[in-house]
Amino acid sequence: MVLADLGRRINNAVSGAISSKEDVDSAIDVMLKEIGRALIESDVNVKLVLNLRTKIKSQLKDNQDLQVNKRIIQKVVFDELVSLVDTKTEPFKPKKGKTNIVMFVGLQGAGKTTSCTKFAVYYQRRGFKVGLVCADTFRAGAFDQLKQNATKAKIPFYGSYTETNPIKVSKDGVDKFKKEKFDMIIVDTSGRHKQEADLFQEMIEIDQTIKPTQTIMVLDASIGQAAESQSKAFKDSSNFGSIILTKLDGHAKGGGAISAVAVTNTPIIFIGTGEHIQDFETFNPKSFISKLLG
Ligand code: GDP
Repeated sequence: MVLADLGRRINNAVSGAISSKEDVDSAIDVMLKEIGRALIESDVNVKLVLNLRTKIKSQLKDNQDLQVNKRIIQKVVFDELVSLVDTKTEPFKPKKGKTNIVMFVGLQGAGKTTSCTKFAVYYQRRGFKVGLVCADTFRAGAFDQLKQNATKAKIPFYGSYTETNPIKVSKDGVDKFKKEKFDMIIVDTSGRHKQEADLFQEMIEIDQTIKPTQTIMVLDASIGQAAESQSKAFKDSSNFGSIILTKLDGHAKGGGAISAVAVTNTPIIFIGTGEHIQDFETFNPKSFISKLLG
């Protein structure tokens, strides 16, 4: 992750405030402005940054001693950032012996198909009987990609070269695996290059047909500020309950992800850190923010 040098800038801002010759309140204001600038440059939403500044300021005011303690100021900043990505809700936990239907949504290129396979392998290794369904009838080659991934990972899959109706394919796939008593059925859906009404309509129809136990939105961490509106649009159409954040190995600044969680109040459950199956980690708010700060 490359995060606009966030940690160093926050560190410098705090040091600057402590050694400042100005009165304490102005020194804190200067520090908060610089921290805010660093966060906005890391793609955190402006409104969130303003709220964060107010919160940090009020915490520092509550205890005048804090103003001379660098470590404590840094901890306040850290804790406030953690609270933005920690929804304090219980993340989705599939139950063995039940039919867990998991629907994946996201824009084209976000990493849906890759994440579906990673997710499938994660649960297969934990003893789940997992099947993958390719309901992406929009992108040419989508079924072949899923088939290739699934074959490599030895996961049963379902898809069609001829059926063009994604609702029918998802229903047929789910029905087949249900009949065969699979306890996790993962449905990979279509994306589009950008947010489009017909995509959201398709997500609503698939959702109503297969009635997923859980819907997961796959979000490319490198899309920056756009993460917020994209998450909101998917939330409105497919009411996802979890987020998988991908491409954190690249040049993502990570702040967009913070905004996506905050605006939808939905937890990130896994992060993708590369193109390979093993590049997949469970999400932990504290370690995510630690990495973000560098
Ligand atoms: P989809 O269109 O949403 O299904 O996206 P794909 O799963 O096809 O992924 C699009 C591209 O992103 C592919 O080249 C993947 O290998 C790549 N990709 C997916 N997840 C990650 C990740 O966590 N890190 C990196 N570096 N690349 C990823």
